[in-house]
Amino acid sequence: MIEGGCRCGACRYTLAVEQLPPVYCCHCRDCQTWSGSAFTEQAVVREDAIEATGPIVDYRFTSPSGSQSFQRLCGTCHTRLWNTNSARPGIAVVRAGTLDASDDIVPRAHIWVKRKQPWVVLGDDVPAFEESAPPAEFAAILMR
Ligand SMILES: [Zn+2]
Ligand SMILES: [Zn+2]
Repeated sequence: MIEGGCRCGACRYTLAVEQLPPVYCCHCRDCQTWSGSAFTEQAVVREDAIEATGPIVDYRFTSPSGSQSFQRLCGTCHTRLWNTNSARPGIAVVRAGTLDASDDIVPRAHIWVKRKQPWVVLGDDVPAFEESAPPAEFAAILMR
């Protein structure tokens, strides 16, 4: 069982998985703005693996591609915890920095590196994609 939670502690969640889920980093401009940082760390899990407690609120928007993005946040401190998207039913993307074991994360891929901050230096041994990764290739990287 993997656990995590928001900055203030009001929201906690568990992931019904045996080990840390696969994590990728997104360096796109939206992720930089949304996180207030240089990139986001995203952990991929089955949506039904998440159990959460606390004052979770949601924020929904329609992406440029037309899909519905459904974001869950702590209603007290507004930490963004995870999201789902109508284009990827059954899959949730957890903000990996909210995992209790975030120190143990080893990213498997970097995407949108054409928008990467120049001072962020990536290892040669981790796949990196200029924009979004091709879905089949990305799934293979995350599921290996
Ligand atoms: Zn909170
Ligand atoms: Zn992004």
